[in-house]
Amino acid sequence: MQSVLRGIPASPGIVVGPVHLLRWEVPEVSHRLIADEAIDAELVRLHVAFERARDRLRQLRARAEQHVGPEEAAIFDVQVSILDDGELTRSTEALIRQNLGAEKAFDLVLLEWRQRFARHSAPMLREKVGDLMDVHIRVLSLLLDLPDHDPVDVPPGANAILVTHDLTPSLTLQLDRNCISAIATEAGTATAHVAILARSLGLPAVVGLRNALSFLVPGQIAILDGNEGTLLIAPSDHELEDARLRVEQEAGRVDEMREIAHSDAITADGVRMVIRANVDIPDEAEMGATSGADGVGLMRTEFLVVGRATMPDEEEQYKAYKKVIQAFGARPVIIRTFDVGGDKLPVGGFPTEANPFLGWRAIRMCLDERELFKVQLRALLRAGVHGDLRIMLPLVVTVDEVRETRSLIDEAVVELAERRIPFRADVPLGVMVETPAAAIACDTLVRDVDFFSIGSNDLVQYTLAVDRGNANLAPRFTPFHPAVLRLIAQVQVTGAAHGIDVCVCGEMGSQPLAVFALMGLGIRQLSVAPRAVGEVKRVIRSVRMAAAQDAAQAALAAGTAREAETLLRRRLRTELDAAAQSGGLPALS
Ligand code: PEP
Ligand code: MG
Repeated sequence: MQSVLRGIPASPGIVVGPVHLLRWEVPEVSHRLIADEAIDAELVRLHVAFERARDRLRQLRARAEQHVGPEEAAIFDVQVSILDDGELTRSTEALIRQNLGAEKAFDLVLLEWRQRFARHSAPMLREKVGDLMDVHIRVLSLLLDLPDHDPVDVPPGANAILVTHDLTPSLTLQLDRNCISAIATEAGTATAHVAILARSLGLPAVVGLRNALSFLVPGQIAILDGNEGTLLIAPSDHELEDARLRVEQEAGRVDEMREIAHSDAITADGVRMVIRANVDIPDEAEMGATSGADGVGLMRTEFLVVGRATMPDEEEQYKAYKKVIQAFGARPVIIRTFDVGGDKLPVGGFPTEANPFLGWRAIRMCLDERELFKVQLRALLRAGVHGDLRIMLPLVVTVDEVRETRSLIDEAVVELAERRIPFRADVPLGVMVETPAAAIACDTLVRDVDFFSIGSNDLVQYTLAVDRGNANLAPRFTPFHPAVLRLIAQVQVTGAAHGIDVCVCGEMGSQPLAVFALMGLGIRQLSVAPRAVGEVKRVIRSVRMAAAQDAAQAALAAGTAREAETLLRRRLRTELDAAAQSGGLPALS
């Protein structure tokens, strides 16, 4: 059956390929009782399943080591060690001896283990819940004889579109990019981390395709359009031809954008903007450095942690930061300290807190886990000798958090000095403004910080009380709400009054209409996905700052997000048409 599934565009690009369905969920297990005589055979069944799971994990380990890297491959060792755990085997065997079927016995033990780990106070042990869930699914699938779905098991060269309910950042990083060309998820929104990572990896993606899995047959051909946010199932010959044509046009457009990306970000009336890149993984550094960006406005270091069995040590972090800093030469590189928690260090299946987004995450966790935080601070200070590094703190709500961090930096300085290794002590320190608290009271921060960076993804989420990752709420997640626009204006005005740089580093900075609004609100620095640099510069070069200011004033006075968006769109269209007519840049599609 042919049909178009509509979701949310998350990462641009068009891909034609077979769908690979990933149902990586704990299967339903019925309560099966066995006779005394069947107990021995059931124990054998359990051990055979464990052995097959170990074999599979070893294969996956070898493959991950080859395609992704040794640190990421180590996650499979952790899962093998769970299967080797004597307590796990003994507890499951005990339940089988009480006449429970092997699958139910294993299911109950794993549920209990996952809950126990989920409540653990140590973050790395809580993270282990994800591994426990993987083992839970893998062994149950073997015991129940279910098809061997696997997140990292797609035939090589398949050029497949991976379709799944949701992807954690760690699964996204483990994907074999030689086999998967695009991602489609039922859950998620454009600012969810799967979308951000897909953009970093250059994988076209559509998210929020509710119930997509129920419409699809494994292996059937589909067209994923990451620009439009659609998945077309079983296309006709004509649609396939049309898609191939659009793939070619897209390639031409990418070339054109690449050219614009290397031009100056100056408006039609001569105002200069600074466009930096968001770099999420060190491997992206080279690409970011040649993207036409004026440095890095946000490096999300938590992606060094996710998908890993152990925390990266000081040396490994130092090398990762140095790699990015050196790639950008003399250009500034802003590295954000760990923003783990919320949806970024997800613990499979079980929320460890009732409200993870309001919970123990980001700077809060780092300040409580001082040693873990100091490892990162030392690595950063050491990397600081290689270029223009600046450190940024996520989710700050009070100046106390900045002051406490400064005192930890002082301790890190003493520790490094004792070791007699090169480091830079006076690295500038800035904060993300991504809560209404930080935005409204940003004047309380100005004496203690060197710069502000507005995290619009979280600022929208916390201001409008709309979960950024919830596909059901996607239409309500808008940066054009007057409350959000007014908060941004307030931060900009306060920053300017105190000589503090204000950048916007959320996804808002990559959307043409939002760029126009931000310019009008006085923002002169944006940090965007490397692939969006050309598009953003194209908007900047096509419009007059005076027109953006006018439009932003009108948007600030609008009663609703829709009103603000409509009037901004109309005025941007006028500017773009004028630019096209005067022989400048063609109007945006
Ligand atoms: C933001 O919140 O806008 C931001 C840039 O940080 P992240 O998306 O990593 O939460
Ligand atoms: Mg944020």
